[in-house]
Amino acid sequence: AGLPNEFGGYDESPESMAKILNEFAKEGYFNIIGGCCGTTPQHIKAFAQVAKNNPPRKIPFTQPYLRLSGLEPLNLRPETNFVNVGERTNVTGSKKFARLIKENKYEEALSVAKDQVENGAQIIDINMDEGLINSEEAITKFLKLLATEPDIARVPVMLDSSKWSVIEAGLKCLQGKGIVNSISLKEGEEIFKTHARKILKYGAAVIVMAFDENGQADTLERKIEICKRAYKILTEEIHFPPQDIIFDPNIFAVATGIEEHNQYAINYIEATRWIKKNLPLAKVSGGVSNVSFSFRGNDFIREAIHSAFLFHAIEAGMDMGIVNAGQLAVYEEIPKELLERVEDVLLNRRVDATERLVEYANTKTQELTSKEQVEAEWRKESVEERLKHALIKGIVEFIEADVEEARIKYDSPLHIIEGPLMNGMNVVGDLFGAGKMFLPQVVKSARVMKKAVAILIPYLEAEKEKSGGSKSQGTILMATVKGDVHDIGKNIVGVVLGCNNYDVIDLGVMVSAEKILSTAIEKNVDIIGLSGLITPSLDEMVHVAKEMERLNFKIPLLIGGATTSRIHTAVKIAPEYSNSVIHVIDASKSVGVVSNLLSIDAKQSFSEKIKNEYIQLRQEHNKKHSTREYLTLDKARVNKLKIDWDNYSVSKPRLMGISHFKNYSLEEIRKYIDWTPFFITWELKGKYPAIFEDKHVGNEAKKLFDDANKLLDQIITENSLTANGIVGIFPAASTEDDIEIFSDETRKGIKAKLHTIRQQGIKSDGIPNIALSDFIAPKSCEAKDYIGMFAVTAGLGIEKLIAKFENENDDYNSIMVKALADRLAEAFAELLHEKIRKEFWGYSAEEKFTNDQLINENYPGIRPAPGYPAQPDHTEKLTIWKLLDVEKNTSISLTESLAMYPAASVCGLYFAHPQSKYFTVGKIGKDQVLDYQKRKGISLKEAEKWLRPILNYDESD
Ligand code: SAH
Repeated sequence: AGLPNEFGGYDESPESMAKILNEFAKEGYFNIIGGCCGTTPQHIKAFAQVAKNNPPRKIPFTQPYLRLSGLEPLNLRPETNFVNVGERTNVTGSKKFARLIKENKYEEALSVAKDQVENGAQIIDINMDEGLINSEEAITKFLKLLATEPDIARVPVMLDSSKWSVIEAGLKCLQGKGIVNSISLKEGEEIFKTHARKILKYGAAVIVMAFDENGQADTLERKIEICKRAYKILTEEIHFPPQDIIFDPNIFAVATGIEEHNQYAINYIEATRWIKKNLPLAKVSGGVSNVSFSFRGNDFIREAIHSAFLFHAIEAGMDMGIVNAGQLAVYEEIPKELLERVEDVLLNRRVDATERLVEYANTKTQELTSKEQVEAEWRKESVEERLKHALIKGIVEFIEADVEEARIKYDSPLHIIEGPLMNGMNVVGDLFGAGKMFLPQVVKSARVMKKAVAILIPYLEAEKEKSGGSKSQGTILMATVKGDVHDIGKNIVGVVLGCNNYDVIDLGVMVSAEKILSTAIEKNVDIIGLSGLITPSLDEMVHVAKEMERLNFKIPLLIGGATTSRIHTAVKIAPEYSNSVIHVIDASKSVGVVSNLLSIDAKQSFSEKIKNEYIQLRQEHNKKHSTREYLTLDKARVNKLKIDWDNYSVSKPRLMGISHFKNYSLEEIRKYIDWTPFFITWELKGKYPAIFEDKHVGNEAKKLFDDANKLLDQIITENSLTANGIVGIFPAASTEDDIEIFSDETRKGIKAKLHTIRQQGIKSDGIPNIALSDFIAPKSCEAKDYIGMFAVTAGLGIEKLIAKFENENDDYNSIMVKALADRLAEAFAELLHEKIRKEFWGYSAEEKFTNDQLINENYPGIRPAPGYPAQPDHTEKLTIWKLLDVEKNTSISLTESLAMYPAASVCGLYFAHPQSKYFTVGKIGKDQVLDYQKRKGISLKEAEKWLRPILNYDESD
């Protein structure tokens, strides 16, 4: 009996516990109170009284989405695309997985799960149903191991078994919220209800198979009857949340030669449609590969069937499915004749559908899989088809000739844009929206479009003089705010919006509020989008919002970029502007948001929905904010990280002071590139190099990687980017939370002071409250310690390259060059850090790590960067700039928000102690801000401005 720390201390007497509990109950924090060992009848009595005095809290309104989670949430919002469930961790479906489990090779079995997640599975289905395996034991062991692997455990788990005992064993080990696959009415209502109740208690979602006492449902009527009955029992008797119910109305094989089977695909699709229409909030799932079972061995036909089936099923409302993503053709690219025959079968459109598909499979498969042939074929199509094909495939080779041909054929260039070109781009937009095309492909498509339009512009202008000009869907003004320089993400959003026929005005980086707003007025834009990478930009965005309010703007404001978040937008930006303010997570979401905001019909309800969501977020945030407890700075200091300096020998740097690296070899730097973040920039999920094996994105990733390396070769040969760097190592000692840097080894004169910030969150026993200064030997001890610092860039000269690509209407390469420069800068930082450890400082001279091991930070020591979680204050960069004379030595400058320019730059400090590590300072209290402000010699206001994102209090308090 006692209250956990976070609730304000530990207390065991019934009376005082009841008092505290009362407080919390009033705030609506819980509605169930319990006790464990140490609980006496007096406690229970006191708790009962608390419960009696406090009516059940009103559950705050939340959108009834299906919300799942592993370590990370997976919310199926209405606009969420189809969700892929990974199928390989299934002993009945995968021989390899079965063997690994039988041979007790769980580590390897885990890698099967990991592969799936890396390859884009959003949920993993785990099945251990096999006669020779003790399934309960196996699932328990596997899930427990899985929970320790954050790469896998981040996605929700689907527990797949036909044995209840296995499911329950699994439920006991699940963290987050998973899905039970499945329960049904096959053994009658009582068992069904018992299982459902238990699932509810364990807090999982459930798949209900369309199966009852009379067997599995195959007709539409039976499917409807069973799902309806199950839904009624679950929602009315068990009070199962309807959004947590997922129906599997059975996908059976078609084209088997048996006449009754001809309706099977339609029955599933129609059942799906019925469920989505009649059983509010319920979801639909299914195992897709069953449908093509009769074409086993002919993957070409199977892929076409799966993709056509999904096309219709998703259109009817199917939400998720166990799909082999690698076995999916792109619907639009299935040859017409094949598609027709496949759909004849799936939709049961003719009696001889099966024969005709079999015949096709026998005669045409060979022919059509030959790639060159398909490639040559498209050149024979009409000019409209060729333009469309070139757009979808991103082929620029023939665009001039094709556009020219179209120009002669069409009476107006405008009609070419609004006709075949827009048609092609619409397909691209749809495919991207449906997750069937990836960002690099879209950007390449956009490049084709831009080139085509560029060819037509002179003709358009000539025509414009006569008529009015083209109509776009709307104009969006985008800008990276003042003080910030990052714009890849914004470029990408611009390209994606452009693909969807919006006019985009991109004002670039470091744009003042004045410029943004005056341009918005002048160009009469429909939406303003702001982007930012570093935390001070958050304030700048608040400022723009305030200005929009003051100037009586009415158009929506979109917020995006790495530093922004939904919660910050809701809490800090939205309240400043009375019209729509919306946070947009990534490029693929931007089109949906923009089209809703500009649609006359949807605008109102969409804006209100977001507004309400943000109000709710704000309320929840304020509540949390006011109750979380922190240590005082003094107490946090007492709990500092205590390194045993007496038994540690600091290694004395071999080369003290400053060293320059001018025009460093890009060829060398290239070897240190970490490619995984490069793919993240392009919104391709997966780790390098495994990403190339990914069934879903592998091909695109490979092409992108090849393009990147080609451009990199060119950059290196032409020397078009310059990499400069500077490092320094100095004698140093810590004093409380600061680090003093001495002029020389005599350690008498203090050259500069670094200021660090200490964690104030309440920690469990034995866990210290760290500040970076803890990693440096204190002045008071014997040890003579050192600290290093560095700044590097690989972005010098980039403007010229970008201008060249933009001139050529080549967004693809313009984004690429920025992404590459970023990679080179990070690689350069890695390279120099190694040099420091092995040569200059030499504290780890013997180490030999592969690039992978460097990326994994297997080495001793860290290089934390100002503005990052261990030192969130960007102003610490000023000290580095001063000590290393960075601007003069490397040409990296700092903007007024202390962003580095060029954007492809990195800076930080070097700590050598093996116990030093990256951590997050988290929120801090006013006592620390006051102390910090004094130490730094700045005003409280100034300190609060820079630390705003980590203050645990409101400045107005
Ligand atoms: N291989 C990566 C390396 C950069 S990310 C790449 O190529 O992108 C890791 C860097 O971010 C670290 O070296 C450090 O400079 C910074 N960093 C990460 N976590 C940090 C933290 N908690 N505090 C301060 N800096 C951090």
